[in-house]
Amino acid sequence: MSSVLIQRALVFALTSGLSLSAGASTNERGLDARNYDTSISACQDFWQYADGGWLKSNPIPAEYSTWSLDNELQERNLALLKEILENAAKNPGTPGSTTQKIGDFYATAMNQTAINQAGITPIKKDLAAIDAVKSAADVVALIRDWQALGFGVLFEFGADADLKDSANDIGYASQGGLGLPDRDYYIRQDAESKALLEKYHTHIEKMLSLLGEKNAREQSDWVLALETRLAKASLDRVSLRDPIKSYQIVTLKQADTQTPHFSWTEFFKAIHRDDVKRFSLPHPLFFATADKALSDVPVSHWQAYLRWNLIASSADFLGDDFVNAKFDFRGKVLRGTQELKPRWKRVIDSADHALGEVLGQAYVERTFPPEAKARALVLVNNLKVAMHERIEKLAWMSEATKKSAYAKLYTLDPKIGYPDHWRDYSALTIKRDSYLENMRAAIAFEAHRNFAKIDKPVDKTEWGMTPQTVNAYYNPTRNEIVFPAAQLQPPYFDAKADDALNYGGIGAVIGHEMTHAFDDEGSQFDAAGNLKNWWSAQDKKQFESRTAKLVNQFAAYVPIDQLHINGKLTLGENIADLGGLLVAYDAFKLTPQGKGDEKIENLNPDQRFFLSYAQTWRTSQRPEQLKLQVQSNEHAPAKFRVIGPISNVPAFAKAFECKAGDAMVRGADSKVDIW
Ligand SMILES: [Zn+2]
Repeated sequence: MSSVLIQRALVFALTSGLSLSAGASTNERGLDARNYDTSISACQDFWQYADGGWLKSNPIPAEYSTWSLDNELQERNLALLKEILENAAKNPGTPGSTTQKIGDFYATAMNQTAINQAGITPIKKDLAAIDAVKSAADVVALIRDWQALGFGVLFEFGADADLKDSANDIGYASQGGLGLPDRDYYIRQDAESKALLEKYHTHIEKMLSLLGEKNAREQSDWVLALETRLAKASLDRVSLRDPIKSYQIVTLKQADTQTPHFSWTEFFKAIHRDDVKRFSLPHPLFFATADKALSDVPVSHWQAYLRWNLIASSADFLGDDFVNAKFDFRGKVLRGTQELKPRWKRVIDSADHALGEVLGQAYVERTFPPEAKARALVLVNNLKVAMHERIEKLAWMSEATKKSAYAKLYTLDPKIGYPDHWRDYSALTIKRDSYLENMRAAIAFEAHRNFAKIDKPVDKTEWGMTPQTVNAYYNPTRNEIVFPAAQLQPPYFDAKADDALNYGGIGAVIGHEMTHAFDDEGSQFDAAGNLKNWWSAQDKKQFESRTAKLVNQFAAYVPIDQLHINGKLTLGENIADLGGLLVAYDAFKLTPQGKGDEKIENLNPDQRFFLSYAQTWRTSQRPEQLKLQVQSNEHAPAKFRVIGPISNVPAFAKAFECKAGDAMVRGADSKVDIW
């Protein structure tokens, strides 16, 4: 079962994220001339110039839908994590120890023969519970029980900081219940979208027939009809970027009135928090629609929906027929992936979800010395200084608003490498018995931990990513930027490399996360992490007219077929990319290399900076994956995260001697200036 608790929308990550698995590793550090394609002018297409050689000689491995530097780095991690897990499986040590837990988790998950032999035995009890449902009240009771175990069926629920009182956590309900990546997949009317929806329909049927359901086709009709109804009542992704639209504090009594067929009072009892008096219940159309469906959709249709949810979330932990059927749709159809990853890589992904900080602790012991943390902190502080200077120079912002911006910048809390306190897993029991049971125990453990946070002070030491994740994030309610150890490695961050490479690499990443504090969404939060305006009306207007130009710039890009980038959906990330590149460049110019003009490998310092930036973004995607990203992700495809920002940066044009009118130089009227 997959938990939804960790997927709350408010954390702004650097990339759309990848699972831990990855293929062959090439150029591991520094700039690599083999990556260039100098047959193209840097001023006409800097993406092709900096990465064209790499794109040509690095086809996407069959088991991937995306292949990038981050995947290459994860590949290195995987070998290490495998070693850690295999050792633990051989020598699990004391029962109840973390080594026993990761060892037994891995050994059980790798026992493919036993898993295949068990068939659907691990979910028989759940199937019986669904069969026993007789009324709408029974449907509600089962949904409640599953939610209490961390299984987010029909809607999502979890604790997070109160947007208006960021020191304390509250409970948040939010829309959910869909099997496709976005509500638009159910709504779009073009031929390709309709064909994809029909493939999903067939996939539901296939999974239900694997359960032995006789009328699987009929049941899949019911599931699709119900999901489509929920989709039509759901907010789109652009609306979900507006924090206030996902925040509506209600008392339990008010909530119970809003959804007469679903008692929140009973829900809070089920999650053992009947002391809770208020929580956030936003998305009124969605919850009204879900509630109405509980009263007017036949029980047999709900049973089909519950069966489908059960099998969709359990398939990864069952036998090969379920795993393969799921891959045929999620991997092949949705993403264009050709082959299933080897079992051990998939299991490491699961272990990362289930026991991520146990693995993380072992990972950082081997990879991340304390000196690395100190060096990264120096970089963060240099970027803060550069950011302060940039804000100081902004002609469009008033002094009063600038003062609040500085306050936000200086309270911005950097977290580097790994958490100060490791998560305590002592309440989690892992046995050498059933893969699915272990996964469920881990999800229930996490749900329990999460529900316990409601109405309690926020634990600011906690991390939202594991140290072995190649990614980073900004969390607006804590005003913190977080960089897992795995992101702080070559070529992003390399003690042996020149400053140009480090500032163009990890510097731009740090700048990106820092700028999220000031993007269209993050800037609605103040220094204390509260959703509270700190802008003068005039300054806000200026900001909005500047960001509107960035919306237009990206909306004009067409990554594939006739699909345009959604300029509004990707705005926060695009502001962060542009600001991050500029602030990293300014910080670089404060270093001795940045001030000088000494050539290395026949490249001047500024050329090295921009090439380093572009090379960290090297990425190939299958067409299906690219479409998925454009249609449902707030991050623009990698190519546009290179040519988009650099074409707004005069220092880039100067470094490569580009002229007005070149494709990589935006004219004075369309050039975007924000931070
Ligand atoms: Zn981001």
